Amino acid sequence: MHELSITKHLLDYCIKKAEEQHAYRIQTIRLSIGQLKGIVPECIQVYLDMLSEDTIAEGAKIEAEFLPVRIRCRDCNQEGEITPHHLACPYCNSLRLQILSGKEFYIKSMEVDIDGNNGTASDHGLE
Ligand SMILES: [Zn+2]
Repeated sequence: MHELSITKHLLDYCIKKAEEQHAYRIQTIRLSIGQLKGIVPECIQVYLDMLSEDTIAEGAKIEAEFLPVRIRCRDCNQEGEITPHHLACPYCNSLRLQILSGKEFYIKSMEVDIDGNNGTASDHGLE
């Protein structure tokens, strides 16, 4: 996936959600990103700065948390966390893994200004 198209999608979605709440400014967009997704939040920030000019999201900050990659091993049947740089079972080193999580990408929360007050919208899935 490319950060530019992700950011366009993200921006449209956030502006729509913010306008539904009659917000006039988006302050912060908090993302949850599975480590297997390969999304770089710094890139999203750069594209957001570009794309959000003259919108209510201008100047918005991206904050991201990474979600771990969880697997179940098809050989030893154990569950564990791995890193995207070492895709092998932490117990028996098998490569026959079932991915349980790590491909998530969603907006965890968003901070917006609504008529001079701060509001927070939570848990909007992107997919
Ligand atoms: Zn194993």
